[in-house]
Amino acid sequence: MSAVSPEPDVMPADRPVVNGTELTTACGADGPLRLMAVHAHPDDESSKGAATMAKYVREGVEVLVCTLTGGERGDILNKAMDRPEVLANLPQIRREEMAKAREILGVQQRFLGFVDSGLPEGDPLPPLPEGCFAAQPLEVAARPLVQAVREFRPHVILTYDDNGGYPHPDHIMTHRVSVEAFEAAADPDRYQDCGEPWQPLKLYYFVTFHRARFTALHEIMVAHGLESPYAERIADKPEDAGKPPRKTFEITTLVPCGEHFALRDQALLAHATQVDPNGGWFTCPINLQQEAWPTEDYHLARSVVDTDTPEDDLFAGIREKVRC
Ligand SMILES: [Zn+2]
Repeated sequence: MSAVSPEPDVMPADRPVVNGTELTTACGADGPLRLMAVHAHPDDESSKGAATMAKYVREGVEVLVCTLTGGERGDILNKAMDRPEVLANLPQIRREEMAKAREILGVQQRFLGFVDSGLPEGDPLPPLPEGCFAAQPLEVAARPLVQAVREFRPHVILTYDDNGGYPHPDHIMTHRVSVEAFEAAADPDRYQDCGEPWQPLKLYYFVTFHRARFTALHEIMVAHGLESPYAERIADKPEDAGKPPRKTFEITTLVPCGEHFALRDQALLAHATQVDPNGGWFTCPINLQQEAWPTEDYHLARSVVDTDTPEDDLFAGIREKVRC
């Protein structure tokens, strides 16, 4: 299960802060466990970690999705929805889609108010649109998230790795603001007008679209006589021969959540402008996914509590500390 790990598995945050008042406050707080998932666009929450959120919500954990942008510059990826009136109202329609997905998963959700940067294409790449999320200075881009962290007081934060999971400028910026918020939210000297300091205890990166999972899905589909769409994805590409392997993040944490895969798919389908119901998301039957790869997977990037990896619970090392 282990892959190349470019960083130590667990990078402790600033210990003096943790051993000070902030951690005492975090760990002594009454109330349920809290999980925050930080995403770039509406629909990202349904394609990365959705079954995990559905599971924790149903176990009594409070879950908040923070969506940095409104997805204003997204394309319409479902032919049935590619109509002029949809395109003209895309921001509003994407908000309505998000509201449906939020209800299906049972999570809380909030938009943090930035404008989608779009996926720049061409060589050389065009400059980012003026005023978009990815063009903001880090402190400006991180401010609403720091505020959300101090208000919601999550014990665990989920976000993208430093490549953004895939290199969309909004995803990379989402990674940067999440790390910034994780590190700065407990510091009373930073973001002083953004609420009372709060120390989140763990920061994870989604490891969703990885080769071991696609290999397992491919093999089980072939074994059942089904045509697998994954062959190309898992094949060694001739153009990659001789290149250093792409940066991957060790899976430290596998959260069993197969029983919520159907909800995950419903939430994805709620994003009707972004998801083609006949497209690749839904090719592998759910029962085969549950058999071949019944978890959603994460890389523990920062932790201020002791925990042994591999884990099967995002709150490992935290449950015993937080009185509920
Ligand atoms: Zn996105």
